[in-house]
Amino acid sequence: MSSHNVKIGLEVHVQVTSLKTKLFCSCSSDYRGKPPNTNVCPTCLGLPGSLPVLNAEAVKAGLMVALALKCSISDLLIFSRKHYFYPDLVKNYQISQYDGVGGAAIAKNGFITINFNGGPKVVRIRRINVEEDPGKIIYPTGSLLTSKYTLIDYNRSGIALLEIVTEPDLTSPKEARIFVDTLRSMLEHMGLVNTELEGSLRVDANISLAGGSRVEIKNISSSKDVEKALAYEIIRQSKALEHGESIRRETRHWDDVKKVTVPARIKEVEEDYRYFPDPDLPPIKLSATVIEEVKSKIPELPDQRVERFIRTYGLSEYLANVLVARKVLADYFEECVKTCKEPELIGNIIVNDFKRWVEELDLSMNAAINMLPPTDLCRLIHLLNGNVINIKILKGVIPKVLKSGKNVETVIYEDGYADISDESVLMRIVDEVIQENPKAVSDALVNPKAINYLVGQVMKKSRGRANPDLTNKLLIKKLNEIGRASGSAG
Ligand SMILES: [Zn+2]
Repeated sequence: MSSHNVKIGLEVHVQVTSLKTKLFCSCSSDYRGKPPNTNVCPTCLGLPGSLPVLNAEAVKAGLMVALALKCSISDLLIFSRKHYFYPDLVKNYQISQYDGVGGAAIAKNGFITINFNGGPKVVRIRRINVEEDPGKIIYPTGSLLTSKYTLIDYNRSGIALLEIVTEPDLTSPKEARIFVDTLRSMLEHMGLVNTELEGSLRVDANISLAGGSRVEIKNISSSKDVEKALAYEIIRQSKALEHGESIRRETRHWDDVKKVTVPARIKEVEEDYRYFPDPDLPPIKLSATVIEEVKSKIPELPDQRVERFIRTYGLSEYLANVLVARKVLADYFEECVKTCKEPELIGNIIVNDFKRWVEELDLSMNAAINMLPPTDLCRLIHLLNGNVINIKILKGVIPKVLKSGKNVETVIYEDGYADISDESVLMRIVDEVIQENPKAVSDALVNPKAINYLVGQVMKKSRGRANPDLTNKLLIKKLNEIGRASGSAG
């Protein structure tokens, strides 16, 4: 594969999910899960006589990304109409920006530095556009390739999108994946995009091999699939070239069910789009005041956060980078550190165990954190430090919690992990035994010897691992409580 000189450029489309409304109308931007074609109005349905009204917050989001990506900003914001026929596009044109005569991209000539093969690499950003999302095409009985029919849902039509276009500076599928991950983390840190929402980040990838033509792969929905789709294309194109076939300049679709690329419509050239300024949206001057205001609101970005993690918590560069690559993971780490102050141990467990299992089990990061919240992870570390469990057991508990949804204590005693001498773990069992044996509890309240039966039940439930002295102590404590409560009630 490496024998081919590969050039890759990406167009990343991200929805500004932090906005309340669409780009040019007051329909909600929260369209997911709504019945098809209910989150619409005359404007986002492109009905005659409707007029677009610009969402100023969307422009500020675009400016923030442009500034974070070190772009130069256009003096004028000019919306242009980009024409093409496709069922998801209601007006037969998309309101976007045109980096050519009569138009302007909101920003151009920026860059992102990615970490690849241990060293930094600069990837140039050609331009950024603010534009509207088309509707969504749905393939009800399979994929693009196999579905018997197609449905269309315009709930998404008009959602504010940022289009971020790179120069063809990337040279391998892996590098492309890292670029998307780096950009995603920046967007997450700016609080603009919840990338866990389906379809909030979509990538078109251009790829050419030496001796071939440029092929565009449309609509890839994750960084993992960016890597897969590009790797697939390199094999397909290099095989063709080795057989003396020529590579057509074309657009292909990524079929994310079959994991192959398939030919799509013949690619339009720029003239086909018949760009012209949208007469309904007069140019807006982007004042220095607005730009300064946006600049002042840029929060801590991933680069700065990585540095802070190394400086404040003494983490290795590797750990800091992996944590910060997902904002939600870095937040999780910081929450845990607040509760138990062992950043290196926590960082290692999150990166090497928690994150690995989340990926292996294909969970969303948020769902996994809900199953193992910071207090529970710290609980595990507490049990480790108290020699109740060892590190091997700790590592085994994490996937069990993530697979079963049970809490840490339950997994530890159900799975026979340890001699249970931790009060909180044992208290859970004692509580259960008391609940399940009301008769024995009332016996024990009048006859202290009858407590032995309850101790036996706790031993049985814990499969012999409960510490007997502690069990006794906890049972007496519980029985005293119950005795006092019933005494005062009577
Ligand atoms: Zn609308």
